[in-house]
Amino acid sequence: MNTTAPRLWIKNPLAVFTANDLDAGGGVVVCGDRIAELVPAGGRPQQPCEEVYDAGRHVLLPGLINTHHHFYQTLTRAWGPAADVPLFPWLQNLYPVWARLTPDALELAVEVALAELLLSGCTTAADHHYLFPDGLQDAVDIEASVVRRMGMRATLTRGSMTLGEDDGGLPPRSTVQRADVVLADSERLIREHHEAGAGAVVQIALAPCSPFSVTSEVMKESAALAERHDVRLHTHLAETLDEEDFCREKYGLRTVDYLESVGWLGDRTWLGHGIHFDDAEIARLGAAGTAVAHCPTSNMRLASGTARVLDLEAAGVPVGLGVDGSASNDASNMILEARQAVYLQRLRYGADVPVTRALGWATRGSAAVLGRTDIGQLAPGMQADLAMFTLDGLRFSGSHDPLAALLLCGADRADRVMIGGVWRVVDGAVPGLDVESLAARHSEAARRLVAG
Ligand SMILES: [Zn+2]
Repeated sequence: MNTTAPRLWIKNPLAVFTANDLDAGGGVVVCGDRIAELVPAGGRPQQPCEEVYDAGRHVLLPGLINTHHHFYQTLTRAWGPAADVPLFPWLQNLYPVWARLTPDALELAVEVALAELLLSGCTTAADHHYLFPDGLQDAVDIEASVVRRMGMRATLTRGSMTLGEDDGGLPPRSTVQRADVVLADSERLIREHHEAGAGAVVQIALAPCSPFSVTSEVMKESAALAERHDVRLHTHLAETLDEEDFCREKYGLRTVDYLESVGWLGDRTWLGHGIHFDDAEIARLGAAGTAVAHCPTSNMRLASGTARVLDLEAAGVPVGLGVDGSASNDASNMILEARQAVYLQRLRYGADVPVTRALGWATRGSAAVLGRTDIGQLAPGMQADLAMFTLDGLRFSGSHDPLAALLLCGADRADRVMIGGVWRVVDGAVPGLDVESLAARHSEAARRLVAG
């Protein structure tokens, strides 16, 4: 911790959620890039502070953490042929469009997704990128440069598709790569971009796309590579019953058996969706410490099913939230995703699922899913990643409990966001970002991509 940096007291928030048992009712003290001190309700900082920010209008949360996304899909939001279909035809309609993705379009897509996330209170995002058509070999490098420019944190995954239609997979041949190309590029990206330890800005993980788009060989080799370099593993699993049928027909296995057969059933792995597990599979995932990114909006949009989040957590599975790609949840909004999560889980488990539990999934739970211990909570020594919301405006008028209001009244935009001690959202805007110009350029790129 830089102890010579000025101390900033974010003083007396309207309400605070620390994601742990600590009391920060009097706010937090930030010094350099870390949280130096929590101030109990009615208290004052133990050391003098050079700066004070009066947070009396703000609900204070740890920065929200998104554990599953496909940034490039912001270019294919609400596209007619993919608007009202389930996962497999949705993918088959979109693959040929996505195969035309260019570096310029990707850069705009990443900027849009990150700006949306940031404005919704998100400070760290995972992205699953598995499209590398000719000319787009540097996709993850492009993503890393935008993340750094915007001052966010990200776990960027080197995704892959190696099982094309000709070999019994789902994606067309033009979107798949050879296994040796995937593995060599995975190693290069870890070498060039992965930061280990507290305060990391960019981390790399390895992410073969799904059982129906990658070969077992790439799954196994990726696990070995991840072990060698101590990076995390990510894939889609148990998202739909179609996928379960595919695994049974192609491999003669259920999804978790398949996961285990390729060496992925461990605490290095987090799974996108994780819906269709039976009791025994949930127990095995819990015992292994394999994590799940719950993506409620996407699961409702594609009618994929409802993840058994409370059962997963009871079994010891770390659970976080993901907005998923913007072609299956057309908004990249983390605070709204927490709202969707609490509502969907109430449908499964009953109305006593508290809103704070969903805030926990979006913060501390998501940090655990990404294997991070330096973010996701308000506590001394943690990174100073903060999301602050006001309860101004008609939608909050007449509300009482500020934390409940945040989700129940549908907060959708942060007023202030800090990442590593630096304000990245001020008065509901990203300083220096021309949102209108970005949206105009991005929309044009989206039109061109779909037109072909
Ligand atoms: Zn996904």
